[in-house]
Amino acid sequence: MEHGGLIYLDNAATSYPKPPEVYSEVVRSLIQYGGNAGRGAHRLSLAAAEKIYECRQMAAEFFGVSEPERVFFTLNTTYGLNTVIKGFLRRGDHALISDMEHNAVYRPIYKLAGEGKISYGIYRSFAGDPQRSSEKICDDIARKVRRNTRLVVCNHHSNICSLTMPISDIARLCHQCGARLLVDGAQSAGRERISVDEMGIDALCVPSHKGLYGPQGCGIVILGKGITLNTLAEGGNGVNSLEGDMPDFSPERYEAGTLPTPAIAGLCEGIRFLRDVGTDTVRQKETELFRQARDMLGSIAGVRLYLPEYEGATLLFNIDGLSADSVGNLLNKQGICVRSGYHCAALGHKTLGTCEGGAVRASFGVFNDSRDVERLYCEVRDICLGK
Ligand code: PMP
Repeated sequence: MEHGGLIYLDNAATSYPKPPEVYSEVVRSLIQYGGNAGRGAHRLSLAAAEKIYECRQMAAEFFGVSEPERVFFTLNTTYGLNTVIKGFLRRGDHALISDMEHNAVYRPIYKLAGEGKISYGIYRSFAGDPQRSSEKICDDIARKVRRNTRLVVCNHHSNICSLTMPISDIARLCHQCGARLLVDGAQSAGRERISVDEMGIDALCVPSHKGLYGPQGCGIVILGKGITLNTLAEGGNGVNSLEGDMPDFSPERYEAGTLPTPAIAGLCEGIRFLRDVGTDTVRQKETELFRQARDMLGSIAGVRLYLPEYEGATLLFNIDGLSADSVGNLLNKQGICVRSGYHCAALGHKTLGTCEGGAVRASFGVFNDSRDVERLYCEVRDICLGK
Protein backbone atom coordinates (compact mmCIF):
# COMPACT_ATOMS: atom_id res chain seq x y z
CA MET A 1 0.00 0.00 0.00
CA GLU A 2 1.51 3.31 -1.10
CA HIS A 3 1.40 6.37 1.17
CA GLY A 4 2.22 9.61 -0.57
CA GLY A 5 4.41 7.74 -3.06
CA LEU A 6 6.26 5.82 -0.33
CA ILE A 7 6.44 2.09 0.21
CA TYR A 8 6.86 1.47 3.92
CA LEU A 9 8.75 -1.73 4.73
CA ASP A 10 10.10 -0.80 8.17
CA ASN A 11 7.36 -2.19 10.39
CA ALA A 12 9.88 -3.86 12.71
CA ALA A 13 11.04 -0.36 13.72
CA THR A 14 7.51 0.94 14.07
CA SER A 15 4.33 0.08 12.23
CA TYR A 16 3.02 2.53 9.66
CA PRO A 17 0.34 3.41 8.82
CA LYS A 18 -1.93 2.81 11.79
CA PRO A 19 -5.60 1.85 11.49
CA PRO A 20 -7.71 5.03 11.05
CA GLU A 21 -9.42 4.43 14.43
CA VAL A 22 -6.05 4.79 16.16
CA TYR A 23 -5.49 8.27 14.74
CA SER A 24 -9.01 9.42 15.53
CA GLU A 25 -8.89 8.13 19.12
CA VAL A 26 -5.59 9.93 19.79
CA VAL A 27 -7.15 13.19 18.63
CA ARG A 28 -10.37 12.46 20.53
CA SER A 29 -8.40 11.83 23.73
CA LEU A 30 -6.67 15.20 23.47
CA ILE A 31 -9.90 17.06 22.89
CA GLN A 32 -12.55 15.14 24.75
CA TYR A 33 -10.79 13.65 27.74
CA GLY A 34 -7.65 15.71 28.11
CA GLY A 35 -7.47 15.59 31.92
CA ASN A 36 -4.75 13.84 33.91
CA ALA A 37 -5.84 10.37 35.02
CA GLY A 38 -5.72 9.87 38.80
CA ARG A 39 -5.04 13.57 39.41
CA GLY A 40 -8.53 14.97 39.79
CA ALA A 41 -12.10 14.11 40.61
CA HIS A 42 -13.40 16.10 37.66
CA ARG A 43 -14.90 14.56 34.57
CA LEU A 44 -11.93 15.06 32.22
CA SER A 45 -9.59 13.29 34.63
CA LEU A 46 -12.08 10.51 35.32
CA ALA A 47 -12.69 9.97 31.61
CA ALA A 48 -8.95 9.68 30.98
CA ALA A 49 -8.65 7.15 33.82
CA GLU A 50 -11.54 5.19 32.38
CA LYS A 51 -9.87 4.97 28.97
CA ILE A 52 -6.62 3.84 30.55
CA TYR A 53 -8.46 1.15 32.45
CA GLU A 54 -10.22 0.04 29.27
CA CYS A 55 -6.85 -0.37 27.56
CA ARG A 56 -5.44 -2.24 30.57
CA GLN A 57 -8.39 -4.62 30.44
CA MET A 58 -8.06 -5.15 26.70
CA ALA A 59 -4.33 -5.79 26.98
CA ALA A 60 -4.92 -8.25 29.83
CA GLU A 61 -7.45 -10.16 27.77
CA PHE A 62 -5.32 -9.99 24.62
CA PHE A 63 -2.29 -11.43 26.43
CA GLY A 64 -4.20 -14.05 28.41
CA VAL A 65 -4.21 -12.78 31.98
CA SER A 66 -7.39 -12.51 34.01
CA GLU A 67 -6.30 -9.60 36.25
CA PRO A 68 -5.89 -6.23 34.50
CA GLU A 69 -3.82 -5.10 37.52
CA ARG A 70 -0.99 -7.24 36.25
CA VAL A 71 -0.69 -4.92 33.23
CA PHE A 72 1.28 -1.70 33.60
CA PHE A 73 2.23 0.98 31.11
CA THR A 74 5.75 2.20 30.37
CA LEU A 75 7.33 4.48 27.80
CA ASN A 76 8.30 1.72 25.34
CA THR A 77 9.58 -1.86 25.32
CA THR A 78 13.04 -0.79 26.45
CA TYR A 79 11.74 0.84 29.63
CA GLY A 80 9.63 -2.22 30.33
CA LEU A 81 12.61 -4.53 29.93
CA ASN A 82 14.79 -2.29 32.12
CA THR A 83 12.05 -2.22 34.76
CA VAL A 84 11.87 -6.00 34.91
CA ILE A 85 15.59 -6.71 34.60
CA LYS A 86 16.68 -4.13 37.17
CA GLY A 87 13.66 -4.61 39.40
CA PHE A 88 13.94 -8.37 39.55
CA LEU A 89 17.65 -9.15 39.67
CA ARG A 90 19.43 -8.82 43.01
CA ARG A 91 23.11 -8.57 43.79
CA GLY A 92 24.80 -11.93 43.23
CA ASP A 93 22.15 -13.24 40.80
CA HIS A 94 22.95 -14.90 37.51
CA ALA A 95 20.95 -14.29 34.33
CA LEU A 96 20.83 -16.11 31.01
CA ILE A 97 20.06 -14.32 27.77
CA SER A 98 19.86 -15.68 24.23
CA ASP A 99 22.32 -14.97 21.46
CA MET A 100 19.57 -13.08 19.61
CA GLU A 101 18.72 -10.48 22.26
CA HIS A 102 18.15 -6.87 21.30
CA ASN A 103 20.31 -4.20 22.94
CA ALA A 104 17.26 -3.37 25.08
CA VAL A 105 18.11 -6.58 26.98
CA TYR A 106 21.83 -6.91 26.34
CA ARG A 107 22.80 -3.41 27.50
CA PRO A 108 21.05 -3.39 30.90
CA ILE A 109 22.38 -6.88 31.61
CA TYR A 110 25.86 -5.89 30.45
CA LYS A 111 25.78 -2.77 32.66
CA LEU A 112 24.64 -4.68 35.77
CA ALA A 113 27.39 -7.23 35.15
CA GLY A 114 29.98 -4.48 34.56
CA GLU A 115 29.06 -2.97 37.92
CA GLY A 116 29.70 -6.34 39.52
CA LYS A 117 26.10 -6.74 40.63
CA ILE A 118 25.21 -9.81 38.58
CA SER A 119 26.80 -12.34 36.27
CA TYR A 120 25.30 -13.60 33.05
CA GLY A 121 25.63 -16.22 30.35
CA ILE A 122 24.44 -16.48 26.76
CA TYR A 123 22.48 -19.47 25.52
CA ARG A 124 22.18 -20.43 21.89
CA SER A 125 19.20 -19.95 19.61
CA PHE A 126 20.84 -22.34 17.12
CA ALA A 127 19.92 -19.90 14.36
CA GLY A 128 20.89 -21.43 11.02
CA ASP A 129 21.52 -24.90 12.42
CA PRO A 130 19.61 -27.36 10.19
CA GLN A 131 19.04 -29.53 13.29
CA ARG A 132 17.68 -26.61 15.31
CA SER A 133 14.99 -27.72 17.75
CA SER A 134 13.36 -26.65 20.96
CA GLU A 135 15.08 -29.56 22.67
CA LYS A 136 18.52 -28.37 21.58
CA ILE A 137 17.82 -24.86 22.83
CA CYS A 138 16.51 -26.13 26.17
CA ASP A 139 19.49 -28.48 26.57
CA ASP A 140 21.83 -25.55 26.08
CA ILE A 141 19.95 -23.50 28.68
CA ALA A 142 19.95 -26.44 31.11
CA ARG A 143 23.73 -26.77 30.66
CA LYS A 144 24.27 -23.07 31.38
CA VAL A 145 21.89 -22.68 34.33
CA ARG A 146 23.67 -22.14 37.63
CA ARG A 147 22.59 -22.47 41.22
CA ASN A 148 21.98 -18.70 41.34
CA THR A 149 20.28 -18.26 37.95
CA ARG A 150 17.14 -16.28 38.73
CA LEU A 151 16.24 -14.88 35.34
CA VAL A 152 16.21 -16.18 31.78
CA VAL A 153 15.44 -13.65 29.05
CA CYS A 154 14.16 -14.63 25.64
CA ASN A 155 13.52 -12.58 22.51
CA HIS A 156 10.37 -14.23 21.14
CA HIS A 157 10.76 -13.09 17.52
CA SER A 158 14.08 -11.73 16.33
CA ASN A 159 14.11 -8.20 14.95
CA ILE A 160 16.72 -9.00 12.30
CA CYS A 161 15.23 -12.15 10.80
CA SER A 162 12.12 -14.25 11.28
CA LEU A 163 13.54 -16.60 13.90
CA THR A 164 11.07 -17.64 16.63
CA MET A 165 11.94 -19.03 20.04
CA PRO A 166 10.01 -21.85 21.80
CA ILE A 167 8.66 -19.83 24.72
CA SER A 168 6.47 -22.45 26.43
CA ASP A 169 9.26 -25.04 26.50
CA ILE A 170 11.77 -22.53 27.82
CA ALA A 171 9.27 -21.41 30.51
CA ARG A 172 8.77 -25.00 31.66
CA LEU A 173 12.51 -25.53 31.93
CA CYS A 174 13.01 -22.23 33.79
CA HIS A 175 10.45 -23.19 36.40
CA GLN A 176 12.03 -26.61 36.87
CA CYS A 177 15.30 -24.81 37.56
CA GLY A 178 13.77 -22.23 39.91
CA ALA A 179 14.33 -19.36 37.47
CA ARG A 180 11.85 -16.87 36.01
CA LEU A 181 11.29 -16.14 32.33
CA LEU A 182 11.20 -12.63 30.90
CA VAL A 183 9.98 -12.49 27.29
CA ASP A 184 10.82 -9.65 24.93
CA GLY A 185 7.71 -9.61 22.75
CA ALA A 186 8.66 -6.45 20.84
CA GLN A 187 8.38 -8.21 17.48
CA SER A 188 5.92 -10.98 18.27
CA ALA A 189 3.10 -9.01 19.93
CA GLY A 190 0.21 -8.74 17.51
CA ARG A 191 1.47 -11.38 15.11
CA GLU A 192 1.54 -14.39 17.41
CA ARG A 193 -0.96 -15.50 20.00
CA ILE A 194 0.70 -14.91 23.38
CA SER A 195 -0.95 -16.10 26.54
CA VAL A 196 1.18 -15.10 29.51
CA ASP A 197 -0.39 -17.54 31.97
CA GLU A 198 -0.85 -20.48 29.61
CA MET A 199 2.71 -20.19 28.33
CA GLY A 200 4.18 -19.76 31.82
CA ILE A 201 5.71 -16.34 31.13
CA ASP A 202 6.74 -14.44 34.28
CA ALA A 203 7.00 -11.06 32.59
CA LEU A 204 6.23 -9.95 29.04
CA CYS A 205 7.32 -6.60 27.59
CA VAL A 206 5.75 -5.29 24.41
CA PRO A 207 5.51 -1.96 22.58
CA SER A 208 2.40 -0.13 21.54
CA HIS A 209 3.97 1.12 18.34
CA LYS A 210 4.89 -2.02 16.42
CA GLY A 211 2.60 -5.02 15.94
CA LEU A 212 -0.16 -3.66 18.18
CA TYR A 213 -0.59 -0.74 15.75
CA GLY A 214 -0.74 1.89 18.49
CA PRO A 215 1.21 5.16 18.70
CA GLN A 216 4.77 5.63 19.90
CA GLY A 217 5.29 6.71 23.52
CA CYS A 218 3.87 3.68 25.25
CA GLY A 219 4.83 0.14 26.13
CA ILE A 220 3.18 -2.56 28.22
CA VAL A 221 4.52 -4.95 30.83
CA ILE A 222 2.39 -7.94 31.79
CA LEU A 223 3.48 -9.70 34.96
CA GLY A 224 3.03 -13.35 35.76
CA LYS A 225 1.14 -14.27 38.91
CA GLY A 226 2.95 -13.44 42.15
CA ILE A 227 5.76 -11.38 40.58
CA THR A 228 6.73 -8.19 42.41
CA LEU A 229 9.57 -5.98 41.25
CA ASN A 230 11.63 -3.24 42.77
CA THR A 231 10.69 0.05 41.18
CA LEU A 232 12.79 1.67 38.48
CA ALA A 233 11.25 5.10 39.02
CA GLU A 234 9.37 6.59 41.93
CA GLY A 235 6.94 9.48 41.94
CA GLY A 236 3.35 10.52 42.14
CA ASN A 237 0.40 8.64 40.74
CA GLY A 238 -2.44 9.81 42.93
CA VAL A 239 -2.35 6.69 45.14
CA ASN A 240 -1.14 6.58 48.80
CA SER A 241 0.04 10.13 48.25
CA LEU A 242 1.04 10.85 51.86
CA GLU A 243 3.50 7.96 51.95
CA GLY A 244 7.14 8.04 50.93
CA ASP A 245 7.02 4.54 49.47
CA MET A 246 5.51 3.62 46.16
CA PRO A 247 2.38 1.47 46.58
CA ASP A 248 3.20 -2.22 47.00
CA PHE A 249 0.57 -3.27 44.48
CA SER A 250 0.49 -3.35 40.69
CA PRO A 251 -0.05 -1.40 38.48
CA GLU A 252 0.39 1.75 40.61
CA ARG A 253 3.69 0.51 42.00
CA TYR A 254 5.23 0.78 38.53
CA GLU A 255 3.47 3.81 37.09
CA ALA A 256 5.20 6.95 38.40
CA GLY A 257 4.18 10.25 36.88
CA THR A 258 1.64 11.16 34.24
CA LEU A 259 0.78 8.36 31.85
CA PRO A 260 0.76 8.95 28.08
CA THR A 261 -3.03 8.95 27.81
CA PRO A 262 -3.17 9.84 24.07
CA ALA A 263 -0.82 6.95 23.25
CA ILE A 264 -2.74 4.57 25.50
CA ALA A 265 -6.03 5.68 23.91
CA GLY A 266 -4.61 4.95 20.45
CA LEU A 267 -3.18 1.64 21.63
CA CYS A 268 -6.62 0.62 22.87
CA GLU A 269 -7.93 1.00 19.31
CA GLY A 270 -4.89 -0.81 17.90
CA ILE A 271 -5.63 -3.81 20.09
CA ARG A 272 -9.32 -3.65 19.16
CA PHE A 273 -8.34 -3.63 15.47
CA LEU A 274 -6.13 -6.69 15.98
CA ARG A 275 -8.81 -8.48 17.95
CA ASP A 276 -11.13 -8.00 14.98
CA VAL A 277 -8.60 -8.93 12.30
CA GLY A 278 -7.00 -11.77 14.31
CA THR A 279 -3.32 -12.41 14.90
CA ASP A 280 -3.49 -15.58 12.76
CA THR A 281 -4.64 -13.51 9.78
CA VAL A 282 -1.89 -10.95 10.39
CA ARG A 283 0.78 -13.64 10.57
CA GLN A 284 -0.52 -15.41 7.50
CA LYS A 285 -0.53 -12.20 5.46
CA GLU A 286 2.96 -11.19 6.55
CA THR A 287 4.29 -14.68 5.90
CA GLU A 288 2.90 -14.63 2.35
CA LEU A 289 4.63 -11.31 1.71
CA PHE A 290 7.83 -12.69 3.22
CA ARG A 291 7.72 -15.72 0.91
CA GLN A 292 7.11 -13.55 -2.13
CA ALA A 293 9.98 -11.21 -1.17
CA ARG A 294 12.30 -14.11 -0.39
CA ASP A 295 11.61 -15.79 -3.73
CA MET A 296 11.85 -12.59 -5.75
CA LEU A 297 14.95 -11.13 -4.09
CA GLY A 298 16.53 -14.58 -3.91
CA SER A 299 16.30 -14.81 -7.70
CA ILE A 300 18.52 -11.73 -8.19
CA ALA A 301 22.23 -12.44 -8.71
CA GLY A 302 24.25 -10.61 -6.06
CA VAL A 303 21.57 -10.64 -3.35
CA ARG A 304 22.39 -12.56 -0.22
CA LEU A 305 19.51 -13.50 2.07
CA TYR A 306 20.09 -14.36 5.72
CA LEU A 307 18.19 -17.26 7.29
CA PRO A 308 15.41 -17.19 4.67
CA GLU A 309 14.23 -20.59 5.93
CA TYR A 310 12.59 -18.92 8.94
CA GLU A 311 9.38 -17.39 7.63
CA GLY A 312 7.73 -14.38 9.21
CA ALA A 313 7.56 -10.63 9.01
CA THR A 314 11.26 -9.81 8.64
CA LEU A 315 13.64 -10.42 5.73
CA LEU A 316 17.34 -9.59 6.07
CA PHE A 317 19.62 -9.22 3.05
CA ASN A 318 22.73 -7.65 1.58
CA ILE A 319 23.87 -6.85 -1.92
CA ASP A 320 27.38 -7.95 -2.95
CA GLY A 321 29.83 -5.08 -3.19
CA LEU A 322 27.56 -2.51 -1.51
CA SER A 323 27.28 -1.55 2.12
CA ALA A 324 23.93 -2.10 3.80
CA ASP A 325 23.66 1.63 4.44
CA SER A 326 24.22 2.55 0.82
CA VAL A 327 21.53 0.07 -0.24
CA GLY A 328 19.18 1.63 2.36
CA ASN A 329 19.96 5.09 0.99
CA LEU A 330 19.44 4.03 -2.63
CA LEU A 331 16.10 2.45 -1.75
CA ASN A 332 15.09 5.56 0.16
CA LYS A 333 15.78 7.67 -2.95
CA GLN A 334 13.31 5.45 -4.79
CA GLY A 335 10.68 5.93 -2.08
CA ILE A 336 11.18 2.61 -0.30
CA CYS A 337 11.57 2.74 3.48
CA VAL A 338 13.69 -0.08 4.93
CA ARG A 339 16.22 -0.14 7.74
CA SER A 340 19.91 -0.80 7.23
CA GLY A 341 22.84 -1.30 9.59
CA TYR A 342 22.79 -3.01 12.95
CA HIS A 343 19.17 -2.69 14.12
CA CYS A 344 20.33 -2.35 17.77
CA ALA A 345 21.11 -6.06 17.73
CA ALA A 346 24.79 -6.54 18.58
CA LEU A 347 24.30 -10.15 19.69
CA GLY A 348 22.11 -11.09 16.74
CA HIS A 349 24.59 -9.77 14.18
CA LYS A 350 27.37 -11.69 15.90
CA THR A 351 25.24 -14.81 15.72
CA LEU A 352 24.47 -14.28 12.03
CA GLY A 353 27.99 -13.18 11.13
CA THR A 354 26.86 -9.78 9.85
CA CYS A 355 28.87 -7.55 12.19
CA GLU A 356 30.67 -5.88 9.32
CA GLY A 357 28.24 -3.18 8.24
CA GLY A 358 25.14 -5.10 9.27
CA ALA A 359 22.45 -5.77 6.69
CA VAL A 360 19.28 -4.42 5.10
CA ARG A 361 15.97 -5.29 6.71
CA ALA A 362 12.60 -5.30 4.99
CA SER A 363 9.81 -5.84 7.49
CA PHE A 364 6.17 -6.29 6.63
CA GLY A 365 2.96 -5.22 8.27
CA VAL A 366 -0.71 -5.84 7.82
CA PHE A 367 -1.10 -2.87 5.45
CA ASN A 368 1.52 -4.06 2.97
CA ASP A 369 0.55 -5.90 -0.17
CA SER A 370 2.20 -7.85 -2.98
CA ARG A 371 2.71 -4.70 -5.07
CA ASP A 372 4.96 -3.33 -2.33
CA VAL A 373 7.11 -6.44 -2.61
CA GLU A 374 7.19 -6.12 -6.40
CA ARG A 375 8.41 -2.52 -6.07
CA LEU A 376 11.10 -3.64 -3.62
CA TYR A 377 12.15 -6.36 -6.06
CA CYS A 378 12.37 -3.96 -9.02
CA GLU A 379 14.44 -1.43 -7.09
CA VAL A 380 16.82 -4.06 -5.67
CA ARG A 381 17.21 -5.57 -9.13
CA ASP A 382 18.02 -2.15 -10.59
CA ILE A 383 20.58 -1.50 -7.85
CA CYS A 384 22.21 -4.84 -8.64
CA LEU A 385 22.28 -4.00 -12.34
CA GLY A 386 23.98 -0.72 -11.44
CA LYS A 387 21.12 1.36 -12.85
N1 PMP B 1 13.36 -5.70 21.55
C1 PMP B 1 13.24 -5.98 20.25
C2 PMP B 1 13.32 -7.39 19.80
C3 PMP B 1 13.02 -4.94 19.34
O1 PMP B 1 12.91 -5.22 18.04
C4 PMP B 1 12.94 -3.61 19.81
C5 PMP B 1 12.72 -2.47 18.84
N2 PMP B 1 13.58 -2.45 17.77
C6 PMP B 1 13.06 -3.38 21.19
C7 PMP B 1 13.26 -4.44 22.04
C8 PMP B 1 12.96 -2.00 21.75
O2 PMP B 1 11.68 -1.52 21.55
P1 PMP B 1 11.29 -0.01 21.86
O3 PMP B 1 11.80 0.78 20.71
O4 PMP B 1 9.78 -0.02 21.91
O5 PMP B 1 11.89 0.39 23.13
